[in-house]
Amino acid sequence: MTNLDSILKEASSIVISNFNFDIEKSKLKTYSPKNWEKFCDINNFDANSFGIYIPESYLAYVRLDSSFLISNIFHELYGHGLFVEHSQIGKELTKIIQNNGDDNNFMFNEINLEKQNFGITKHNIHNYEGFAIWLENLLCEETGNKSIFKNKKKYIHNDYLELLDFFKQAEKNLTRFGLISQMGFPKYYDDNKIIEIVKKFYGSNINQVDFVLLRGSQKPESDIDLFVVSDNYSHNFLNGWLDIYEVNRIDFENWSKNLDISITDAMFSGKLIYGDQNYFEQNKQKILNQPITNEVIKYNISEIERLKKYETTKKNEEFSVKKYIDSFSKNLEQLILGNKPLTLSNLQQLYKK
Ligand SMILES: [Zn+2]
Repeated sequence: MTNLDSILKEASSIVISNFNFDIEKSKLKTYSPKNWEKFCDINNFDANSFGIYIPESYLAYVRLDSSFLISNIFHELYGHGLFVEHSQIGKELTKIIQNNGDDNNFMFNEINLEKQNFGITKHNIHNYEGFAIWLENLLCEETGNKSIFKNKKKYIHNDYLELLDFFKQAEKNLTRFGLISQMGFPKYYDDNKIIEIVKKFYGSNINQVDFVLLRGSQKPESDIDLFVVSDNYSHNFLNGWLDIYEVNRIDFENWSKNLDISITDAMFSGKLIYGDQNYFEQNKQKILNQPITNEVIKYNISEIERLKKYETTKKNEEFSVKKYIDSFSKNLEQLILGNKPLTLSNLQQLYKK
């Protein structure tokens, strides 16, 4: 048993150093072959399976005599346990089960992408199993038990091995942190993790990016908020965890000159994580030096009109145009008074009741 304990300790420390969270509620239950068969018989589980995880009770069951015991524990306890405890998808699943909802529907029906941004497959059962086998493989590798997983592979159904490859490829494309974020896990990061993602995201086009600012609260459950100035056309990108406001270089210069609050807020509340510090500082200085001309006032009036028109044509609740109109209107009001609020938090201070 001490041997198992040390394996669990090692797995937990690897998980923590990679992701900054660990299993908290999930527990391991081990069975002798005889009791395993009894247990499976009573619960109508397949006795030939390597193990099973029960989300309702946060329990991971494995049979002790398996030659792949360590691998099985990584799969059931860590793969499924972490997913159920910490990912948005897993939490949704337990909520449904606790409220006697249709968890089969949630797991096996095709995902409605308007309701669920997280995951990388079309069905939650594949998100659930794919993550577990991916983490099982990772923990086997990082604890020096690669050969156990390699031997077990001969007994794993091909569909699952394909799922593993799919997850490994996603890790390559998104970075490990990106994959975890895409699966709806809490996001603990430093600047380097974000720079890595930005580089993956832009690929060889990264040289078209002038600079990247990291914004927002940076809470583990919140979107990662980026402001990018580049050679590309101006647009918004949002995938459920990554929110990029990308502005074309020429637009950036125009909008800065006009003291557009969406630009000045990013410039004065964001943190430079990629790009030329001098260029960034020069542009901040330009904004500070910019006088509040008639042009500036006119621009902001027409921006508000444009947003109001947009609001009536688009009934998209996700994108709250109202909030933008409110910020632009208050900013305009201050500009007319001769003030430059620059950031949303300054605006908030000014309009605090
Ligand atoms: Zn599984």
